[in-house]
Amino acid sequence: MARLFEYQGKEILSRMKIPIPKGQVARTPEEAEEAARSIGKPVIIKAQAWVTGRASLGGIRKADSADEARKAAEAILGMEMKGFTVNEVLVEEQIDIDQEFYAGVIIDDVARRPVVIVSSMGGTGIEEIAQSHPDKVATQKVKITRGLPAHDARNLWRKVGISGKLQMKLGNALVGLYNMCRKYEARSGEINPLVVTNDGQVMAADCRLTVDDYAVFRHPDLGIEIARELDRPATPLEKIAYQVEAVDYRGTFYFIQMAQGFREGEGYIGFHGAGGGGSMMSMDALLKRGYKIANFTDTSGNPPSSKVYRAARIILSQEGLDGYFASGSGVASQEQFHSARGFVKAFREVGLSIPAVIRLGGNFEEEAIEILGKCASGLPSKLEAYGRDDSPDFCAERLQLLIEEQKKAGLRSFTPRKRNPARKPYRFETVTGSIEIDHACCVQCKDKPCVAACTREILKIEDSAPVLAQEVAVVKKGRCTECLACEIACEFEGNGGLWIDLPIPELKE
Ligand code: SF4
Ligand code: SF4
Repeated sequence: MARLFEYQGKEILSRMKIPIPKGQVARTPEEAEEAARSIGKPVIIKAQAWVTGRASLGGIRKADSADEARKAAEAILGMEMKGFTVNEVLVEEQIDIDQEFYAGVIIDDVARRPVVIVSSMGGTGIEEIAQSHPDKVATQKVKITRGLPAHDARNLWRKVGISGKLQMKLGNALVGLYNMCRKYEARSGEINPLVVTNDGQVMAADCRLTVDDYAVFRHPDLGIEIARELDRPATPLEKIAYQVEAVDYRGTFYFIQMAQGFREGEGYIGFHGAGGGGSMMSMDALLKRGYKIANFTDTSGNPPSSKVYRAARIILSQEGLDGYFASGSGVASQEQFHSARGFVKAFREVGLSIPAVIRLGGNFEEEAIEILGKCASGLPSKLEAYGRDDSPDFCAERLQLLIEEQKKAGLRSFTPRKRNPARKPYRFETVTGSIEIDHACCVQCKDKPCVAACTREILKIEDSAPVLAQEVAVVKKGRCTECLACEIACEFEGNGGLWIDLPIPELKE
């Protein structure tokens, strides 16, 4: 779930006509000073961080003047809060609070509909209030086609003892919150506290909003860079990885960095899983041997080879890794040679310089192991491939041995796979890249194995060189599945005249 900061949530609440305190976001102490000056009254400076208990961590401070606001922002910006570095503060007018309430909307996965929750007590977590004062909490499941009419909202507040004009004002705020959650396909939206000021205004003093990952693309106005549940801002590499997923929905690619700034010899492993349970077991097997996980990656749900290739390239771009461990479910239904081809392309292109163990259990795992075996001999580091009968624990042990061996023996010599300028180029687009064939190489290639490797029959031979099976003009983007079979066949059995270009924008080469 993608989370929004308090100031982002409040901006949306304001658009939904729910009053919020006057405020501005600031990224420097000077901006905070300027914001306080323009608000023109005592302000509160609030760290924008996805953590609870910001006040007790020193992330919320009061300031009576612009000068004090700058000093408070100076103290908060850059602060580490439970692993979250604060880069933004919200500078907001101080409000005089008379009463605090809670209003929330969450998706109940069991009921398969939103649940609206209100409480006449605000400020603390709704779970604690529900436990200590169940009589002060009311809930209602909402039928999505009916929505939340104003009288239902008022009725909820009535159940927790609110009446009269206040019931109407709180009811309006609740309807606004529900409509906001509905419009932005939120998994949850909370105003806590929803306050009544001394002059009788109902206001959202805080706001938390999380949006369904799969809905983020429909709401570019939210400005969510990466639709992942993170408890800190996304790293540059996570943003690069997310773009791979955002433009190619075939299969799943999930990448999260668990450590940064480490060095070779500190025991960090690039981890590449496939499927939840198997990945957990595999990471445990590494941890048991004293290794640390640099990143968690998952490619599953039948990803094309091109996606596995990009995942491997992104993992390998982390500096200071001691090894690469790919191990997930032992019974994957997808043909495992798809993943194997992705690994081979990535390892050959970067010149794998850390030991790698790849465990690909499932359909056609023997072919996958064979493909990886062919590639292994030509790499600077050792690569071993295993199947479902080899446990994650055994594979982790093999990686440990390879890492120790490499420490003593060093790297083998290697010539990285390079794209040579084609003398007679023939090029066509794929879903996320392009394929270039050098017909000058093809003329010398006896068996032309790329054509047989392409089970989609996209390639055919014409004038002794492969071309598309159809006229170039009628080739539909997306027909080539980016299975990489033609490139692997060309490299290992042909004459090296085919190159598949799969760009990863912004990735350091
Ligand atoms: S395998 Fe390579 S060199 Fe041989 S025909 Fe195919 S593209 Fe050309
Ligand atoms: S041309 Fe054929 S073999 Fe080559 S990547 Fe596309 S589908 Fe695979």
